Amino acid sequence: MSDDFSSVKGATPDGLPPLRDVIDRYELRAKKSLGQNFLLDLNITRRIARACGDMRGRTIVEVGPGPGGLTRALLIEGAERVIAVERDERCRPALAEIADRYPGKLNVHFGDALDADWSALLAGVTGPVTIAANLPYGVASVLLAGWLGTEPWPPWFDGMVLMFQREVADRIVAEPNTKAYGRLSVLSQWRTEPRIIMNLPAEAFTPPPKVTSAVVAFKPRRAPAPACSVNALSRVTQAAFGQRRKMLRASLKQLTPMPELLLNEAGLTPTDRAEDLTVSDFAALAAIIDRSGVQKTKT
Ligand code: SAM
Repeated sequence: MSDDFSSVKGATPDGLPPLRDVIDRYELRAKKSLGQNFLLDLNITRRIARACGDMRGRTIVEVGPGPGGLTRALLIEGAERVIAVERDERCRPALAEIADRYPGKLNVHFGDALDADWSALLAGVTGPVTIAANLPYGVASVLLAGWLGTEPWPPWFDGMVLMFQREVADRIVAEPNTKAYGRLSVLSQWRTEPRIIMNLPAEAFTPPPKVTSAVVAFKPRRAPAPACSVNALSRVTQAAFGQRRKMLRASLKQLTPMPELLLNEAGLTPTDRAEDLTVSDFAALAAIIDRSGVQKTKT
């Protein structure tokens, strides 16, 4: 196939060497400890890139470009600029080749994305920003929680297109009264509209991971409702889902000595359990906690 980064002989659309060549030449053997499962199929990476929306003037923040498969697809699809954070120094020469091919369009910072100061990395950037990544699964949920917890809100990005293991994607979009519904569902759905846009079998990756994967597109809500603080929402969901089999009048004792008062004020039934509550119910509880000044704890 010529329209494929993995093809050894075929021409690539960006004129750069096929990804398999790049991986061989720089000996980028995948490291499990860094969650390295590479995407070599341009049909897949281009579909992910296209989910970022209109690329004109758009900056993409990418975590973990690795040998650069998704990065190249983003640039082929017309991204104005890609700002990437990668932990693996071995990827430096492969990414430098891409930067040379697209002068001024690719900046790679080597370091841990968990320590990244996103606003500093984006200094001077104008125009819309999307976060796009085939995330390393070990840190995917922590990175997502950080982006969802961004203050102030609306955030510095106008969308996120992220690959997760399927089980995490299912939790993000889960509805009440399902097993997958939990803290990640509530925070994701309160602040954004998340949607699974693609499912991928393990064989789509090199090497294949043990699990299936899914791409989730998140559209930030401008004004999440009801309005509450992330801190209070985090505390109330932690208390409720931390003991998800218990009735709320018991599980919320962690937060307040008289949970019934809190639940009554929100118009909720004290005998309900965490998974019976909607995202709005949780935000309403959090708003009351904010108003009543139930003591703040670190989340
Ligand atoms: N984007 C490439 C692709 O789609 O083929 C690689 C994706 S691979 C699943 C995850 C990438 O994240 C790897 O390149 C890995 O080195 C990098 N990575 C792992 N942990 C990281 C961290 N904490 N910060 C930044 N990059 C990280």
